[in-house]
Amino acid sequence: MRYGVFGDIHGNLEALDIVIEAMRRERVDRFLCLGDIVGYGANPSECIARVRALDPVVVIGNHDLAAVGMLDISAFNPFAREAVLWCRQALGPEDLAFLEQPNLVEIVNDTVTIFHASLALPEQFGYIQTPEEAAQSFAFLKTRVGFFGHSHVPVAFSKAMRRIELKTTPELSLVDGISMLVNPGSVGQPRDGDSRAAFAVYDADAGTITCRRVRYDVERAQAKIREAGLPPIIWERLSQGI
Ligand code: ZN
Repeated sequence: MRYGVFGDIHGNLEALDIVIEAMRRERVDRFLCLGDIVGYGANPSECIARVRALDPVVVIGNHDLAAVGMLDISAFNPFAREAVLWCRQALGPEDLAFLEQPNLVEIVNDTVTIFHASLALPEQFGYIQTPEEAAQSFAFLKTRVGFFGHSHVPVAFSKAMRRIELKTTPELSLVDGISMLVNPGSVGQPRDGDSRAAFAVYDADAGTITCRRVRYDVERAQAKIREAGLPPIIWERLSQGI
């Protein structure tokens, strides 16, 4: 079984289409979506339609929850709040019905766990960026592999016995007795200084996880956000991936 793992799309249709194409070329059997389909980008409704068509296992992200009015956005920064309010009016009743369905955590085939932000109190949307933060989620991980998003920065952590290590290579191999937490990065709003869209392929039979990057039409995505009248910071950062 080959899984295509992707998330943090954030309404960026240009990036999502390129990632779907790339995952199809990778002969993916099943799609796992890590949430935040909407928020920031100009095509939230179209992105929901694309994701639905893949029939993925999907978990809900904080921006999805905010869009359907199930998350208090007073703690969001002002431009993120403005983006949420814009997004709400861009979504139809069917979009909203789809967005509010997913759970915070899903276990797939008893072997893979997916969640948006953190396994420790998933509804609080904390981050996993350090070995210490990874340890808090490893404590709740019941499968060998877990995938998550939220920070928009690709990163992986391995745990052997009680030792947790940060991994930075794009190619990861699973080894018996070692569990892994992997963030493949963001499709529609990368923040690791690389503007290319990110996703991962998990080959469960080969025991490999490959984090991939693909170029997409950043300028087109930027122009749409600008035309929607959203704050400049939202489109400006796309070209640098910050
Ligand atoms: Zn996100």
